[in-house]
Amino acid sequence: MTNNIMQAMVLRKTGTPLEWTELADPQPGRGEIRVQVAACGVCRTDLHVVDGELPDPKVPIIPGHEIVGRINSIGADVAGLSIGERVGIPWLGHTCGICPYCLEHRENLCDHPLFTGYTRNGGFATMVVADARFAFPLGETGDDTSLAPLLCAGLIGWRSLVIAGEGKKLGLYGFGAAAHIIAQVAQSQGRSVFAFTRPGDAATQSFARGLGAVWSGGSDEMPPELLDAAIIFATVGELVPLALKAVRKGGRVVCAGIHMSDIPRFPYRLIWEERQLLSVANLTRQDGIEFLRLAPKLGIITKTNSYPLNQANQALADLRAGRFEGAAVLVP
Ligand SMILES: [Zn+2]
Ligand SMILES: [Zn+2]
Repeated sequence: MTNNIMQAMVLRKTGTPLEWTELADPQPGRGEIRVQVAACGVCRTDLHVVDGELPDPKVPIIPGHEIVGRINSIGADVAGLSIGERVGIPWLGHTCGICPYCLEHRENLCDHPLFTGYTRNGGFATMVVADARFAFPLGETGDDTSLAPLLCAGLIGWRSLVIAGEGKKLGLYGFGAAAHIIAQVAQSQGRSVFAFTRPGDAATQSFARGLGAVWSGGSDEMPPELLDAAIIFATVGELVPLALKAVRKGGRVVCAGIHMSDIPRFPYRLIWEERQLLSVANLTRQDGIEFLRLAPKLGIITKTNSYPLNQANQALADLRAGRFEGAAVLVP
């Protein structure tokens, strides 16, 4: 730890590896806090940013939006937060507060947002500055590394689960960081989880059953009974018609990712009978407050794989290749 110099893994150009960089400590401006990063999860969205699959990243950029750390400096006009307090910094980094979406409490769709690790600097670093209004106080329960994946995998998963409705039989396509958290939440609500993985991925299928899934199999398989709803966490458009086929009349299919490969054409009968296809974008602060209040009560256990900060490229490569179960977390 140093006083005036921070370390960061910086994306200079999309499609290139992150570079270990030393920078002057950032200073919090009006309404901002500076946080000493204790852990930062690695999300599929970080891969999309690095790969240039999302439009107009603000390069050079420090990725990372599942940040857990402690406040070590507070700018002007910040209320309700104190030095040393542990906070989480999520993907939604700023909203305008005045566009039609903000005004109708749908700030996840804000016309002029900033996103942590995409259009403002994130947590693949020892230090990060954040808009104080978008930081979540985390309290002292739980260790930093275990909490980090809740900040996006957990939050986006939670929003997806709410949008999926009340159905008891829930399919999860792609059993990575988000699904392994949401499977636990869904079961605490009395739902049955059906886990779909890459075909032949026996290790992840058994990981899912170990977390209580009543059935697990390849995404090319049909579940043993029709589902009430399915959430697609994988970024594969081919899964959309498969999931529609697996849900009952009136069932919902929710696409949880920020990016997906093209959805192939499919016959109208797959969406006929009031099946619904929806997507989830970003999060609202209300989602975060609800989920982070609920998570400790449910005793959610996150499976994490820790990497030192300077091995962020390895963590991204391992995520891409599906080389671990659960979530990767960088620890400075
Ligand atoms: Zn707005
Ligand atoms: Zn994310």
